[in-house]
Amino acid sequence: MQKDTSIKDIYDITIIGGGPVGLFTAYYAGLRGAKTKLIESLEELGGQTLHLYSSKQIKDIPAIPVISGTHLSQQLIQQAMTYQPTICCHETIELLIEANEEHPYIQLVSQKQAHYTKTVILATGNGAFNPRPLPFDYDQGIEGQSLHYFADDLAIFKDKRVAITGGGDSALDWALTLEPIAEEVNLIHRRKRFRGHEASVEALNKSNVHQFTPYIPVEIKNQGSQIKELVINEGRTDNYIHLAIDHLIVAFGFTSSIEALKAWGLDFERNAIAVSYRMETSLAGVFAVGDCVYYPGKTKLIATGFGEAPMAVNSALIYIDPEANTAPLHSNH
Ligand SMILES: Cc1cc2nc3c(=O)[nH]c(=O)nc-3n(C[C@H](O)[C@H](O)[C@H](O)COP(=O)(O)OP(=O)(O)OC[C@H]3O[C@@H](n4cnc5c(N)ncnc54)[C@H](O)[C@@H]3O)c2cc1C
Repeated sequence: MQKDTSIKDIYDITIIGGGPVGLFTAYYAGLRGAKTKLIESLEELGGQTLHLYSSKQIKDIPAIPVISGTHLSQQLIQQAMTYQPTICCHETIELLIEANEEHPYIQLVSQKQAHYTKTVILATGNGAFNPRPLPFDYDQGIEGQSLHYFADDLAIFKDKRVAITGGGDSALDWALTLEPIAEEVNLIHRRKRFRGHEASVEALNKSNVHQFTPYIPVEIKNQGSQIKELVINEGRTDNYIHLAIDHLIVAFGFTSSIEALKAWGLDFERNAIAVSYRMETSLAGVFAVGDCVYYPGKTKLIATGFGEAPMAVNSALIYIDPEANTAPLHSNH
């Protein structure tokens, strides 16, 4: 059978997942000279560390006595970029197709495109993160226009009336960031107290942000892609407020699940991907690291995942070329 080798953009190692372990894996793959790609479902790299506990002080990273989730993520991203891997954000891999006689590369399929690679390292944690959606139906045409689950262009909020829903660090950060830019900022949270960092709550109380607690959003009124009004309800009462706004930012946190991965043909044990001592999964050319794996004695910590990354990269390189040097390469070489 003729092998289809016509595809040009083939990577040595493609890492799925841009959490702390995926980021360090990308760095180490670059250090070993591998042509590397990293794919992350969210718009921002950082995984749990950035999206679930950005302001927590982490105290069990070797040689770093204390570091916040945000700062650790920034450092890991900077280090991961050293060898300029290709980064694809806002893209969830939905299917992995194994290499075969006819198609000699592994295929990773998202809703946007197919990626071709000689090996894969899964660093998928608890599964792809997705923003938790609003709990009621609305016209999908407003998404990305005046309703935002992600936003990186602050200019669109200049002199606009903005509402933010949520009570954690992300919601507070949005409110404080937009207060000097927007005409008006409204922060809506279902509980009386905000869950965010004390310093942020203190800054919020000194700011001009209008706080609505305990309120929940119940309806959006729009004209085309433009939100005109957000209706909010005071918990367990008949009090409704109609807020005239231009933009709504939803910051309800993220959901994740490993169910989709189970269709890829990988062996699972204790609800995680079973790997060998060389971080091999049950699929040829597919390795795994970090929170997504199980082996006897596995501990779900960042430090443990960092240790697994070089093992997976070295195993991937040997898979590509069985003659590859298996001696560890030190970073001063
Ligand atoms: C509240 C809390 C506090 C913690 N504190 C500590 C601590 O102090 N010290 C410590 O060592 N550990 C701590 N942990 C655990 C630590 O965060 C995890 O061990 C670590 O994040 C695992 O990193 P990871 O890269 O394997 O996975 P994750 O951080 O979960 O990252 C996985 C990434 O993969 C992406 N992804 C998944 N599937 C796909 C797909 N199909 N396509 C594209 N992208 C995909 C996800 O969107 C995500 O960004 C804490 C965890 C929590 C929840």
